[in-house]
Amino acid sequence: MTDNSLYIPESAMAIVAHPDDIEFSCVGTLARWAKGGSRVSFVLCTSGDVGIATPGMTREKATQIREEESRNAAAIAGVTEIIFLREPDGLLQPTLELRKKLVREIRRFKPEVVLTGDPTVVFASQYYLNHPDHRAAATAALDAVFPAAGQPNLFQELENEGLRAHKVRKVFIYGQQQSELTLSIDETMEIKLAALRAHKSQFPNWDPGEHVLERASENAKGKEMQYAEVFRVITLEKDETWERLRHSQNVIG
Ligand SMILES: [Zn+2]
Repeated sequence: MTDNSLYIPESAMAIVAHPDDIEFSCVGTLARWAKGGSRVSFVLCTSGDVGIATPGMTREKATQIREEESRNAAAIAGVTEIIFLREPDGLLQPTLELRKKLVREIRRFKPEVVLTGDPTVVFASQYYLNHPDHRAAATAALDAVFPAAGQPNLFQELENEGLRAHKVRKVFIYGQQQSELTLSIDETMEIKLAALRAHKSQFPNWDPGEHVLERASENAKGKEMQYAEVFRVITLEKDETWERLRHSQNVIG
């Protein structure tokens, strides 16, 4: 059954720092959109190459393992496109070079929506400092979306690759305090858990499921849903479908 009150963009691109960032934050929504017919792309700035601490592990080997895990996670979520930019894990910087790489991906894939983190979050919780790579990826993503990707005379050389300026309509920001959009992931909670668990190298001794379920139910508190992901939404280009649906209770909780 089609839920007519659900906003499903024609295409969406998530831009993050590390292989499991999407699964922790927004894969429930992306899987739901993919089911509804959205084209969805994952862009990973780093391949998490310092993220496996077992003895004898090299960065090259870790890159291979984590990219494989990411492909598996994307497949579970119904996502067929995944881009690895292979910037250095742990040292990510929002450089102009990274901005250009992201502009290239945006102009190529032409997403209606870009999803990324909040570059202003430093103190993420009482127990967690936001990883500097997360802030760097979010800064680079936002700066690539606006105004760079939509300005024909900026990074004009990308035209040589047949890539024209593209204006992203909306930005969905996860992981910040001012989230005003609550999206139900009741339908895709199992997918989110399975996609997250596909990052086996990250969870050798613990199951991330409990934490993620807890967070998703907290997000859904007081709403007519069991599990949710929450976002702040910036609408850069007017969109009538969005205007109509943003008032429906299934979109704005
Ligand atoms: Zn991360």
